[in-house]
Amino acid sequence: MPLKQTIKYESDCDKEFAGWISGQTGGENLRHCIQCGICSATCPLSLYMDYTPRRLINMAREGFKKEVLSSFTIWLCSSCYACREECPKSIKVTDIMYLLKRRAIEEGVYPRRFPIPVLAREFGRMIFMFGRVQETLLVTDLFLRTSWFRFLNMTGLGLNLMRTGRLSVLPDRIKGRRQLRQVMAALDLQESKEAVK
Ligand code: SF4
Ligand code: SF4
Repeated sequence: MPLKQTIKYESDCDKEFAGWISGQTGGENLRHCIQCGICSATCPLSLYMDYTPRRLINMAREGFKKEVLSSFTIWLCSSCYACREECPKSIKVTDIMYLLKRRAIEEGVYPRRFPIPVLAREFGRMIFMFGRVQETLLVTDLFLRTSWFRFLNMTGLGLNLMRTGRLSVLPDRIKGRRQLRQVMAALDLQESKEAVK
């Protein structure tokens, strides 16, 4: 993916960002990175990322918040944990990727029309609403928010899947949705409290 190179001054960086990551579960060792590059060498997807894992970790700790949160890298990470296993400083790179994804969704700064963050956000929203993922709604929503063209292309396949009973049309809901929402809200609150510690 093409990289836009711009000069960045220290005053443009977010000094709090590294502190926020280090204060989260999984992000504790961020500042211990020695930039050895083993994570990038191990990562099966670094070739496709706009910033390699090594570079992303460095940018995160230097406060390049905007670039880090809007990068494709965090969404291309497949959570294979190879980098985390090999890191000589026990930096939980995969967990940091998750922290960054969550923050990017919260701040709405993920790459526009890129399917993975849209899918992650809609998946969470659907669980919150119904307690289950409604595949037809999820896929329709995903295509409408990312590519109309692909939506039109996939309509035939979708209809066939519905006809053969592989995609359900009716929403599936669990009992006790209110309790589930309370649990999810409590977890969110807990995470927010940990973030401001
Ligand atoms: S392997 Fe660990 S120490 Fe080395 S660059 Fe990656 S995160 Fe930093
Ligand atoms: S967990 Fe993500 S960043 Fe780490 S090696 Fe796997 S794909 Fe790459």
